Amino acid sequence: MTTLSPLAIVPFVSVDNMMRLVLSIGVETFLTELAGYIEEDFRRWPDFDKTPRVASHSVDGVIELMPTSDGTLYGFKYVNGHPKNMREGKQTVTAFGVLADVGSGYPMLLSEMTLLTALRTGATSAMAARRLAPKGASTMAIIGNGAQSEFQALAFRALLGIRHLRLYDIDPAATEKCRRNLSGLGFSITACRSGQEAVEGADVITTVTADKQYATILSDNMVGAGVHINAVGGDCPGKTELHRDILKRSSIFVEYAPQTRIEGEIQQLAADYPVTEFWQVLSGEAPGRRSASEVTLFDSVGFAIEDFSALRYVRDRLAGTSFYEELDLLADPDEPRDLYGMLLRAGAAVI
Ligand code: NAD
Repeated sequence: MTTLSPLAIVPFVSVDNMMRLVLSIGVETFLTELAGYIEEDFRRWPDFDKTPRVASHSVDGVIELMPTSDGTLYGFKYVNGHPKNMREGKQTVTAFGVLADVGSGYPMLLSEMTLLTALRTGATSAMAARRLAPKGASTMAIIGNGAQSEFQALAFRALLGIRHLRLYDIDPAATEKCRRNLSGLGFSITACRSGQEAVEGADVITTVTADKQYATILSDNMVGAGVHINAVGGDCPGKTELHRDILKRSSIFVEYAPQTRIEGEIQQLAADYPVTEFWQVLSGEAPGRRSASEVTLFDSVGFAIEDFSALRYVRDRLAGTSFYEELDLLADPDEPRDLYGMLLRAGAAVI
């Protein structure tokens, strides 16, 4: 076994180590700090290379690549979305990603991103809701109580002070799982028998269901004045959660409009329908919530910059810890042009 030079080593964060890192920091602190990183990057939006993600669709799901760069760092995520996986004992969404140095092109970090995606999605939703939800919001309905749901609840508590949860899922076992996982943390939790019951009295409605169809998780009559809708589950062509009439009476905020027009709730609207990119609210170019009676909608699909921020945060928080392995990912011959010689010498060493 040869000794690896520091140039050849890439830190790798496994699922196990990601869990250790998150638990050592504390989930809500992690979500809060991560939201800070995402907000920092959204504030310098023009610095980034942006492109709608590259999607490969199949009958049962989608596999996507999500790249971006700020000119100094480059990041990408591989992510899938397969609603049927859950019935086969697999995750609907799995992911991993890379952060790289633009100057040399060398990867600097390889990380699991299944957990990190759930964390960054919760952090992004709550970051947006902090500017869009009604003042003093304390009650959130969560429709869809699968893998993402607890992360949403915890992010909204950490960033907005949400204390009351109203849960609904077509599968009562999912609601029971979510209730159990969030019990003992100071939430008051009501398990509901319908979406209609869940939204009663809610200041914020989070929809985070998985179904590959134009679903109607929320119909127009379920959304009262002043509510903030955090629509997370509709994130693919042909996969939406809200009735079109809701969109017509909401102020709509998106991550990156060219991608959301393909994948988000607004695929139901004309291609030039006015929406606000959320970074514009942070930069002061556009208002957030304008009145107590306005219905605001964050039409979230997940954008590459959020994953970039998450990888950047993990890289910074890894420093000084042992929550990573050193991966022999890059060839590093003694003389850069002598790649074949490296192979020959390895062969000679074996014989
Ligand atoms: P999951 O499969 O673990 O959970 C989905 C839940 O939705 C299940 O419990 C299912 O029973 C429930 N459900 C399905 N149809 C329903 C309906 N009509 N009413 C109520 N509940 C219903 O999936 P997950 O990992 O929690 O992801 C949920 C969705 O969020 C997926 O569509 C995923 O693609 C999307 N997602 C979006 C982002 C983003 O950035 N916007 C990030 C991650 C995941």
